Amino acid sequence: MKSIENIDLPIASPGAGRSLRVMRYGMPGKGPKVYIQAGLHADEAPGFLVAHHLEQLLDSLDVLGEIVLVPVANPIGLGQWRDEFLQGRFDFANSVNFNRQHLNLTEKIAARAESLLGDDADINIAIIRKCTADVLKEVHPADEAGALKKILFSLAHDADIVLDLHCDYDAIMHVYMGTPLWPEGADLAAQMGAEVTLLAEKSGGDPFDEACSRLWWDLAKRFPAHSIPSACLSATIELRGIADTDHRVALQDARNIISFLQRRKVVEGAAPQLPQLLNEATPLTGVDYIKAEAPGVVVFLKEPGEYVTRNDVVAEIINPLPKKGESPVLAVRCKTDGVLFSRNYDRFARPGRVLAKIAGKEALRDPEESLLTV
Ligand SMILES: [Zn+2]
Repeated sequence: MKSIENIDLPIASPGAGRSLRVMRYGMPGKGPKVYIQAGLHADEAPGFLVAHHLEQLLDSLDVLGEIVLVPVANPIGLGQWRDEFLQGRFDFANSVNFNRQHLNLTEKIAARAESLLGDDADINIAIIRKCTADVLKEVHPADEAGALKKILFSLAHDADIVLDLHCDYDAIMHVYMGTPLWPEGADLAAQMGAEVTLLAEKSGGDPFDEACSRLWWDLAKRFPAHSIPSACLSATIELRGIADTDHRVALQDARNIISFLQRRKVVEGAAPQLPQLLNEATPLTGVDYIKAEAPGVVVFLKEPGEYVTRNDVVAEIINPLPKKGESPVLAVRCKTDGVLFSRNYDRFARPGRVLAKIAGKEALRDPEESLLTV
């Protein structure tokens, strides 16, 4: 069974209005609930394409649990054309990244749930979800993006599985999820063919996937006497690079999501044999964000997917105006061993700009730092 609902966002400007299309498959309460969205960063086309193929596949399958699909999660960003380019990553009103500063209601949920929690994990899950729904009723965002974030979280907070479809600039398939969700969530990374899985208990930016999952382990720490499992397997799936909109590849990505959901008994049918996990997960603290130390033109010497070792030259920055005696070529080296999983698509460097990312095993930063890029 499929139903479609349109949810209006509050009107931000007279005469202008936007809405979210929400598709629902299956029956609430009958089995696991899954929430999937695409395009929270509205400039990331591959997610929309995979959601399109996912919808086509779901239309002909029986859903045993419940699936909520939001194929365009950010109509605000999708309207951000500037000159010839769609922006879509930052709110024009305040420059906040649309995938940062999502709701963190843990303290309020804890206050409500404290006297209700017991020893039974399933009952505790139900109590926490009810308290979350009650707390959400008291959240009244002032602006349009805040209202959007509240709606998305309201649709997803009680899901057992949350998949947030994104992409990077020029990248291989990779996945972000909470450390407590590993290795339970390893079948997602394996099925998607992710070469890199990045784990953090707290990334520091409050992205959407973490808003859905972190409250569980935060509450478990807060109430150690009660059994509180990590009840939401929430992940951000980075569907390669921003220009990767190939039908064949996107359809296979959608099929992989279906296979994962079959294995999790959300969709009818037998899942195919689980592919082998390509690489063990690595900590988000271990990501080497290789930054430019000088301005100039970037020439990459390494490809996405290549394994690099510490001190390898990943790129060169060419300075077209070197001072007398100065080399026009600056070598850019990595600080760790690991897979180069993403490169910037822009070929102009300015000091401090991230040029590439390497998934290293050893921590390069403190877990309390903000571990995501802006
Ligand atoms: Zn994104």
